[in-house]
Amino acid sequence: MKKYKVKKYHKFTLFRMKIFAVIIAVLIWIIYLFFGTGESINVELENVSALKISSDLVIEIRNFAEKYGIEFSEFFTYYSLENNFFENKIESDEKIEQNFIMNYEKVKSKYNFKEVKKYYDLINNIYNDIKLFPISPEFIDEYIYGDSWGGERTYGGKRIHKGCDIMDRENIRGRIPIVSMTDGRISNIGWNEQGGYRIGVVTENGNYYYYAHFDSYEKGLEKGKTVKCGDILGYMGDSGYGKEEGTKGKFPVHLHIGICPKTELTEDELWINPYPFLRLIEKEAEDIK
Ligand SMILES: [Zn+2]
Repeated sequence: MKKYKVKKYHKFTLFRMKIFAVIIAVLIWIIYLFFGTGESINVELENVSALKISSDLVIEIRNFAEKYGIEFSEFFTYYSLENNFFENKIESDEKIEQNFIMNYEKVKSKYNFKEVKKYYDLINNIYNDIKLFPISPEFIDEYIYGDSWGGERTYGGKRIHKGCDIMDRENIRGRIPIVSMTDGRISNIGWNEQGGYRIGVVTENGNYYYYAHFDSYEKGLEKGKTVKCGDILGYMGDSGYGKEEGTKGKFPVHLHIGICPKTELTEDELWINPYPFLRLIEKEAEDIK
């Protein structure tokens, strides 16, 4: 009979092999932790821009996040990714709890963490920047707005509306004060053909917040000046849609809000629908009252 030679390892060699195995296991664990299982993300940037979330769902998500002790921006990011940024479906509360929250860790592990972070940063930076609704609470009954993203605009060429319009119910220029939603620095102030008298504010993280169609500016504002959230920027108006500075009355009195965040998702400008964030901050202010 053939005799197999059993190789005997020296005790020290065995010990080294064990240590090696442990190191490999730890390395795999770290890679898994940081990069997930690596499913690449395939979301249309157009959907990210449009953020098609129903006005109630964004509040629901905030409430669920609170209930289950999950950070809002993280929850919002994974929920959005699972729903292709809301292009596919809006689910009922029960479904969110059963399909999403109960499988939350599983959902998270599906995605490449480094990829997710780009979406997370975008959501989280805007969410943290906006501390106030752009109209002070005394005027809560004086304005009206909805999700006006994507509407067709024709002035200056056919294009889609990349912002959110907040209308004066009375349509009277110069009566509703507009306040800064964020802390930041004024990077643009003055006339532009489409936006009329407009102000651009850049926050510390590089996000850009655009306020347009002012009737007049608050005194003392100039390019480079820092503003705090709640500072009055000016008064709601209907300026714009004219090559000549001071053109007014081409449309109803309203404030146009635009958000263009700094993002790693693309090198181009990526405007984000402000509506969900405005709804959220408005609801938070109501809850505090
Ligand atoms: Zn607008």
